[in-house]
Amino acid sequence: MAIVNSKITLDELQELARFWSEDRDAISVYFKAPAPSELAHREEPIFAKDQIKQKLGSLKGMSHADREDVQRILETVSELKGNNGRAKVIFACWSKGIWREYDAPGDFGCRIDVGPNFSLAPLIAQQQGRRRYCIALADRNRARLLLLEAREITEHSQVIDEDDKEKIRTTGTGKSVHLERKKDEQVRRHFTFVAEHLLHFYEHKDYDCLIVGCRDDMWPAIEAELHPDLKRVLAGHFHCDPGIASCEEIQEKAQALVDVRDRVDEQKLMERTMGGFASNALGAVGINEVIDALEKGEVRTLLWTSKPDGEQHSASLCEHCGHLEGKELNACTLCGGKMRLYQNAEEALLRHALGRSIEVREMHYSKLPMPDRIAAWLRFRAEISTPQALAS
Ligand SMILES: [Zn+2]
Repeated sequence: MAIVNSKITLDELQELARFWSEDRDAISVYFKAPAPSELAHREEPIFAKDQIKQKLGSLKGMSHADREDVQRILETVSELKGNNGRAKVIFACWSKGIWREYDAPGDFGCRIDVGPNFSLAPLIAQQQGRRRYCIALADRNRARLLLLEAREITEHSQVIDEDDKEKIRTTGTGKSVHLERKKDEQVRRHFTFVAEHLLHFYEHKDYDCLIVGCRDDMWPAIEAELHPDLKRVLAGHFHCDPGIASCEEIQEKAQALVDVRDRVDEQKLMERTMGGFASNALGAVGINEVIDALEKGEVRTLLWTSKPDGEQHSASLCEHCGHLEGKELNACTLCGGKMRLYQNAEEALLRHALGRSIEVREMHYSKLPMPDRIAAWLRFRAEISTPQALAS
């Protein structure tokens, strides 16, 4: 029985990153489990099987039918039923006795790579870029809290305990102005109470961004109670009836806001990087310039656009000192150590960045310039002063 984890630690990542097979038989699988409704068609497992067989056709020696890891991958993928919406990620190398299997939240599509190294870029980018969205649903006398992370939603409504608060009851006939005012004041106090809890959870790093769900006419009163720190991380609000909204409805509406925010964030990062590159400031574009910046310790965020087979740009990494080259090279120009050639340059760059507090980001919406589609947003430029760079 395989141990299936949903979280991968930095130690595990570093171990997988160091792995290298001279026989070029390391297999990386990213597989989106079909939704239960799609199971009748079974198209994706068949697609994945064909891809695996085709990719492994070039393996030396043993036929792939005899390889235990290939058989195990085919079985694992065929048996997936929904997988709770999680993707299956497998790194396997039968000849070296390696099998790592993860149920990762998020959407990676379907991808199979075979080569000397494992393909870690999609997983690392997804893990790093993952934000936790608190979804606060509020009406005049209720509040529900949910957490949305990597397209998974969970309800945490019990964290706001309102038992000690006087519930607001609808008044019958004979309303007076005084009673109306009292009701309004109670509603305002309720929103203050909710907003204070949201701030408390944010300050304790329970989430990164906020989304509010409420009736449209309630929004101004709720917004007015939000602390400036919460307004800063507010991704938006959507219309719903907090009392009856289902998790599916909430997730769909919140995810739409998250997607818009991701797109805008990526666009900003792109503009900063390309603008910085154009003015010779805090942007580096192209493999050689990015390698130069990485080795000078200038990189804040490493960016790449994933490329289809045949369009990849390769890079070499010294297995001894970590030196990078944007081309194939046998021996390291710095230490004489053996260079490893990575078919996807970002895999080599990532291995240099891992554990060095450099952010990594796969660009999904905007394409970086050809031919290698690799860039970096920098912290500083070693040859110019930081104030000068920041001013530009
Ligand atoms: Zn070296």
